[in-house]
Amino acid sequence: MAGTAVTTAWSVTMTGEQWTALRDHLFPGDGDEHGAVLRCGIARGPRGNRLLVKDLALAKDGVDYVRGDRGYRKLTAQFVADNIDVCADEHLAYLAVHNHGGRDSVAFSGTDMASHDRGYPALLDINDGVPVGALVFASGAVAGDLWLENGERAEIAHLRVVGRPRVDLTPQPAPAAVADPGFDRQTRIFGDRGQAVLAASKVAVVGLGGAGSVISEYLALLGVGELVLIDPDRIDQTNLPRVVGARRTDALTWLRDEKRPAFVRAIGDGFAKHKVYIARRVAREASAAVQVTAVPRSVLDPDVARMLLDCDHIFLAADSALVRRLVNSITHQYLIPSTQVGAKVSVLDGAVTDVFSVSRMSAPGSGCLQCNGLIPAWKLTEEATSPEQRKRQRYIDDEDVHAPSVITLNAVAASRAVDDWLMAIGGLVEPDVSRDHWVSYYPMSDDVVETEPAKRPGCLHCGAGRFARGDAVPLPVVPRPADV
Ligand SMILES: [Zn+2]
Ligand SMILES: [Zn+2]
Repeated sequence: MAGTAVTTAWSVTMTGEQWTALRDHLFPGDGDEHGAVLRCGIARGPRGNRLLVKDLALAKDGVDYVRGDRGYRKLTAQFVADNIDVCADEHLAYLAVHNHGGRDSVAFSGTDMASHDRGYPALLDINDGVPVGALVFASGAVAGDLWLENGERAEIAHLRVVGRPRVDLTPQPAPAAVADPGFDRQTRIFGDRGQAVLAASKVAVVGLGGAGSVISEYLALLGVGELVLIDPDRIDQTNLPRVVGARRTDALTWLRDEKRPAFVRAIGDGFAKHKVYIARRVAREASAAVQVTAVPRSVLDPDVARMLLDCDHIFLAADSALVRRLVNSITHQYLIPSTQVGAKVSVLDGAVTDVFSVSRMSAPGSGCLQCNGLIPAWKLTEEATSPEQRKRQRYIDDEDVHAPSVITLNAVAASRAVDDWLMAIGGLVEPDVSRDHWVSYYPMSDDVVETEPAKRPGCLHCGAGRFARGDAVPLPVVPRPADV
C-alpha cells in the first residue's frame, strides 16, 4: 500500500534541549548513521498540523540500531515494539529517525521508502490510526514521510526547534528571499532571509494596554506578517497616557466626564474604542503588509484561546493570573514560546516603595511560570469569583483599579521582550546563552536582575501530563473557582 498524498502540511516541533541531544546523537563526528524514535503529541491547525516531540528515545548503536538485512542499518524489532507500545498507550505519533551524510539537503533512499512500505501499515494499525512515519536528517536538513489513517500519506517538509536560537530545517535550502528595500537598515542585521522569517511570522499579543500596545507597534514596524491582538477592554481616559496611538476621541472623554448624567457616561463607557482596534490602527499605519486579527474578547473564551495555537510566539501583556495560567499551559502543551511582560509600581502609605518592569521569555519544556510561583492560587481564586463577589472582597493589590503606571516602564519591558524574540528567530543569539531569558529592571536602584527559571518536577503546567500533548489535553480556559 503506497498511500495517497494529502494536502494538509505536517511539520515537527521540538525543544532546543531535545534538538541538542538528538543532533549530538546523530552527528557525533564519526560520519556514520545513527537512529532514534520520537514520540509526539499532535496539534492540528489552520496553518498545518504539527507533531510535538514529547519523548526522544535514542537508539544505542549495536544494541537498538544494528546492521540491516536490506538497508545499511535498522532499528531492532524490539526497540520499535517498545516505542510503538508507548505510543499506542499514550495516543502519540511515532517517528523513526536516522541520518544520512551531507549538510543542506536530504532525502530518503529507495531502500528507506521500501522499508516504510513494508512496515508502516502494520505499525499504523498497532497505533490505532495515530500517525506513524520517519524522519531522515542531514546536519542542516530534514525530510519526513508520514502515514495517516485511511491510507493517506503526507510529506513532512519542516522541522522547527523552538529554542534560542530558533532553528528551522527543511529538505532543501529555502529559495533566496528578497526583502522590501524599506527594511534596508534591518536587513543589514538580519539579512533578507531574516526579513522573510519576520514576514512569515504569526505573532499574538494578549493584552493591548501599556506594554502590549508598544509590543504590537514594534512587531508591525519590524515587518511581522500576521498579528493576533486579543483584549476585551475598551480604552479609558486613564489609559490614554500609556496606550500607543490612543486618541482622546477614542476614549469618548467628553461623554464620560463626571459632570455628565450617569446615562450619558454609560453611553461613553459602552462606546469607547476597544484597545485592539486602536492597536490595529497603529499596526496598519506602521506596515502596509501586516494582517491583523483584532479580537475584542477574553482569551479565556475557548474559541479565542484556540486562536493562539497556531501562532509562532505569544506576547502576554495582560495582568491576570487566569490568562497567565492559560498562556503558560499553551507554551508547554503546544510548544509555542511565549514572553510575559509587565511593569509594577508598589505604593505604601502614599510613598513609592518599589518600581520594576519585567520580561520573561519562556521556552517550552523549561521551568514555567507556575514552577516559579508566578501564578498565585489566591489570585486565580480571586479572579474566578464573580465580579460582585470580587467587589465585596477587593484585594489591596488590585492592578485593574488604581495601579500606578507609566509608559517608560512598559516600554523597557516591551523592548526587551521583542528584542529577545528577534535575536532568537534571527539566529543572532550566541550558542551558549540560556534557553530562557527572564530579566527585571529596577530603575530606583538601577539594577538589572536576570533569573534562571527553576523547574519543579511533577509540575501540572509544564510536566509530563501536559508537555507536548497538544490537542489531547483540554486547556484551562473556563474559569471556575473549583479549578484552581
Ligand atoms: Zn536512509
Ligand atoms: Zn512548571
